[in-house]
Amino acid sequence: MSKPVINKEKCTNCGMCILVCPQNVFGKENGSVVVKKPDECIGCGACEMQCPEQAIKLE
Ligand code: SF4
Ligand code: SF4
Repeated sequence: MSKPVINKEKCTNCGMCILVCPQNVFGKENGSVVVKKPDECIGCGACEMQCPEQAIKLE
């Protein structure tokens, strides 16, 4: 099953992926957006498409 990986060099912690993910895979930790629940990912691709920085890749 795919799971998202965030490129920390590109990510601005805008929070868009948190808003668009239907599975609540992303969350914030100390102000940084992280992949909190990778096993919940259904591979829908919304986060990869909506990230304004192209910082997310599904692997
Ligand atoms: S949408 Fe992209 S830039 Fe915004 S917090 Fe998520 S990974 Fe980072
Ligand atoms: S691919 Fe879909 S389910 Fe998986 S993390 Fe991205 S938005 Fe969430």
